[in-house]
Amino acid sequence: MTSTRTAVVTGSTSGIGLAIAHGLAAEGCNIVVNSFSDRPGDHAIAESVAREHGVGALYVQADMSKADQCRTLVTRAAKEFGSVDILVNNAGIQHVAPVEEFPTEKWDAIVAINLTSAFHTSAAAIPLMKTAGWGRIVNIASAHGLVASPFKSAYVAAKHGIMGFTKTVALEVARSGITCNAVCPGYVLTPLVEAQIPDQMKAHNMDRDTVIREVMLAKQPTKQFVTVDQIAAAVSFLCSENAAQINGTHISVDGGWTAE
Ligand code: NAD
Repeated sequence: MTSTRTAVVTGSTSGIGLAIAHGLAAEGCNIVVNSFSDRPGDHAIAESVAREHGVGALYVQADMSKADQCRTLVTRAAKEFGSVDILVNNAGIQHVAPVEEFPTEKWDAIVAINLTSAFHTSAAAIPLMKTAGWGRIVNIASAHGLVASPFKSAYVAAKHGIMGFTKTVALEVARSGITCNAVCPGYVLTPLVEAQIPDQMKAHNMDRDTVIREVMLAKQPTKQFVTVDQIAAAVSFLCSENAAQINGTHISVDGGWTAE
């Protein structure tokens, strides 16, 4: 990256978002770390990003299920650092249930956080990017933005939705020096996923490797988890100058899942 950029990464206190924050900070970007909570540990994450990479970093509490807070996140970042050059819409939640039993409040929360938040943050960030004549929007979708699995109706609907949103924004900003793309991870070994392994070992009476290969990675042809750093690297590439002509598309990082 040629000059100091400012990147907002939604949902970046853990897992993929945290790795993206570190990845962009390593490229010299100022970073706005975000989640919905306001614990000392949240601010400490931003401090450690700043210390480790010698960049500016700020934690901003904002609930991505709330329209006004999505927009405030962007305006707060611009106030602190003077611009928002990179927006990574990463915050996401999951709930698993058959459609006829799917709780309405879970559906609403998943669609709000995994899809609608990207509309609000993008709407707030695009005017700033247009003024600067440069911008990058990266939406963290999923293999479930391209294919479905049973019992994940809200998640699959939201992730398919964000793929359509990505393409539409890309067309609207194409002549403004801005790109909008998605990254579609397969199963990523985040703390959330790691914590499920012991229970799965007990439930299936299998050792760790067999659970990972046969249960968790049943659909992932490599039979290996994607790492958070591999997702972060794809995001950093999409934010680079070399990716200026990549617009309105996605990078799958899924071990071949969606090739089947
Ligand atoms: P994670 O649970 O480790 O991290 C999610 C982050 O979002 C956390 O920082 C959490 O605090 C934040 N968050 C949750 N609700 C929020 C809200 N209302 N407002 C603001 N922040 C909120 O999850 P992850 O596995 O790192 O997932 C990150 C993204 O990657 C999600 O969009 C997810 O759908 C996507 N993804 C994950 C996987 C995987 O296997 N882990 C696979 C494909 C896609």
